[in-house]
Amino acid sequence: MSPKPRVFPIECKTLMTKSKIPSLDYAINPYLGCEHGCVYCYATFMARFSDIKDEWGNFVGVKENAPEVLRKEIPRRRPGSVTFGTVCDAYQPVEEQYGITRSCLEAFVGADGFEVGVLTKSDLVLRDVDVLSKLASADVGFSITCLDRRLAAAFEPCAPSPSRRLTAMRELSREGIPVWGFFGPVLPGFTDTEEEIAEVLRAMSEAGAVRVLVDAMNLYPKVKNSVRALIARAFPDRLDAFDTVGSDPGAYLSALSERVATAARTVDLKVDVCF
Ligand code: SF4
Repeated sequence: MSPKPRVFPIECKTLMTKSKIPSLDYAINPYLGCEHGCVYCYATFMARFSDIKDEWGNFVGVKENAPEVLRKEIPRRRPGSVTFGTVCDAYQPVEEQYGITRSCLEAFVGADGFEVGVLTKSDLVLRDVDVLSKLASADVGFSITCLDRRLAAAFEPCAPSPSRRLTAMRELSREGIPVWGFFGPVLPGFTDTEEEIAEVLRAMSEAGAVRVLVDAMNLYPKVKNSVRALIARAFPDRLDAFDTVGSDPGAYLSALSERVATAARTVDLKVDVCF
């Protein structure tokens, strides 16, 4: 991955995409591409729907007309739940300069009936606490896969550290914005023991999360190859554990689900799994 991604404007015709997630009506992604460079990123498929040839992680398309499109779109849409950043992080570094996510959030101020959510790995969301506070209903979810800074730096090289995310979670919670945790993907061979799971859940709870959604790593070939290459290079002693997961994914997921359930009993949180 190059240190600086190619950033360019793109035009969007609509912004609110009907969601296939049962509890979510609309997804909003102000950017195409993501600078965070997570090794396990599933969003790489998005590049297939465009004519962008750059490698995933090396480009960011900025939907510069998104706020204007959204202001026209909101009155035409049936009210419901909306989440920012379902595919590409809405608070990745370019947002600091462009403020597209902020302007899009502002478009929902005074829009009756919409429940607005954000899912991010970035503490940049703190900048917009003033806008979030003006929304009739808003919450912010933070994705965290581990607490260890070194591990996070290997798996999510360009995202803010887990401690920065937890601090942001705590601050938003103090400001009265409901926060929740997305513990995913659980890193096979690293954060999938009962103790590690409980530790992450506890950290989220202490940071003010009221609920946590846990997801397993989806080991489809591209992700599996990238993650395996990283582990072989940086954590060779964990390679056997990782390969065991791939040899019987069904058994792994069922055992993981049990470990999550056991760990969840040690915290005062609503914990759900989505695998
Ligand atoms: S933050 Fe999300 S979209 Fe961005 S690289 Fe990481 S997993 Fe992919």
